[in-house]
Amino acid sequence: MLTVGVLALQGDFAAHARMLAELGAQPREVRVPADLAGLDGLVIPGGESTTMTLGIEREGLAEPLRELARGGTPVFGTCAGLIMLDRAHLGIMDVLATRNAFGRQVHSFEEDLTIAGVEGPSVRAVFIRAPWVAELGDSVEVLAAVDGHPVAVQQDHLLAISFHPELSGEPRLHERFLALVESARSARTSR
Ligand code: GLN
Repeated sequence: MLTVGVLALQGDFAAHARMLAELGAQPREVRVPADLAGLDGLVIPGGESTTMTLGIEREGLAEPLRELARGGTPVFGTCAGLIMLDRAHLGIMDVLATRNAFGRQVHSFEEDLTIAGVEGPSVRAVFIRAPWVAELGDSVEVLAAVDGHPVAVQQDHLLAISFHPELSGEPRLHERFLALVESARSARTSR
């Protein structure tokens, strides 16, 4: 079974843990560096990026999180989690996010998205004070965009999205992530 951590300092980590369990993975709440040991993958949930940054600093998690990603463990950031992965925060992905990018007055909206690599009907995406990707490096692939602004991106084993599939009962992004986790694990065990 795949053991997938969910950063549980703040935000909607419980909804991610439920989704992962429904898809047959073993979720583990991560609060301190020791919780990262032996993980096959990690989800950084949505929430509030300033609060999450303070929690990461307080617990000494920044460098352990970078090491985990550098070592090839897949990481999936959603919304505030996307912000945490960007150049201005943990620097794990070669992207720069704009916070609350869809306008301060727009607290939330929904949109049907076509996402590269996600089969079937379009994805009903829930955006809550969402970021978009303002800048990205050559190694980053855009999987979906709204009005030309990237809202789903992938860089090798790293996946980040602006919206909240864990809140709308949309399992296909987590499935896509678990496929990355599975293949990273097979690559590790076959070495
Ligand atoms: N607006 C939040 C932030 O900047 C992110 C919103 C979310 O995760 N739903 O931290």
